[in-house]
Amino acid sequence: MAFLKISHIAIAVEDLETATKAFETLVGNKVQVVEDVPDQKVKVGMLPVGESRLELAGPTDSSSTIARFIEKRGEGIHHICFEVVNIRAELARLKAAGFKLIDEQPRLGADGHLIAFIHPRTTGGVLVELSEKQK
Ligand code: ZN
Repeated sequence: MAFLKISHIAIAVEDLETATKAFETLVGNKVQVVEDVPDQKVKVGMLPVGESRLELAGPTDSSSTIARFIEKRGEGIHHICFEVVNIRAELARLKAAGFKLIDEQPRLGADGHLIAFIHPRTTGGVLVELSEKQK
């Protein structure tokens, strides 16, 4: 199977601290890692839920893409990430199948994973991320 699991669901939140409290209570678990991603002007809290996790993403600056997302659409699901076996093979397959790729080539994401995004225009309005665990 080329798609292994839902790696995470990312939720855009206005205030990371407030959202962390709410979602920790919701799922009965604690955020394990809080990561600052300065080049995206976002702070991310990783909240494990079984084999997957919620990624709470709050803007650290009004110019961040998350801030603009919230401005346009309000808080809510920002993207869904699938863990795949071979990200390059999946990108080639999806491109051939007519999906609009944001990243033609995978790039380095958090935890040293290779990641790439698929445009929401071809995925039912949902931004999709693919992620491959590096060996
Ligand atoms: Zn993600």
